[in-house]
Amino acid sequence: MLMIPCPWCGPRDETEFVYGEAALERPADPHALSDADWTDYLYFRDNPKGAHREFWFHRAGCHRWFVLERNTVTHAIAGAWPPGAAPPREGGEA
Ligand SMILES: [Zn+2]
Repeated sequence: MLMIPCPWCGPRDETEFVYGEAALERPADPHALSDADWTDYLYFRDNPKGAHREFWFHRAGCHRWFVLERNTVTHAIAGAWPPGAAPPREGGEA
């Protein structure tokens, strides 16, 4: 069972959360993308083994979205932060 550190509520059981999707960096200039680039951005995802950033929603808590960095092999959580904010420093608070 994962303990997920909501940036606003603190550590909570994973059953309180809903997974959203991979937290991808949005294209800086969407109009510059080709159709193939858009297709890749919208529909194709890597399946990384290791660190992965994801959007999660705190359904049974604050009803907010946040970014979580989780190791897909060990499920160790490196940190969580509000969307658009900078990730916490390594070794810092989540
Ligand atoms: Zn919360």
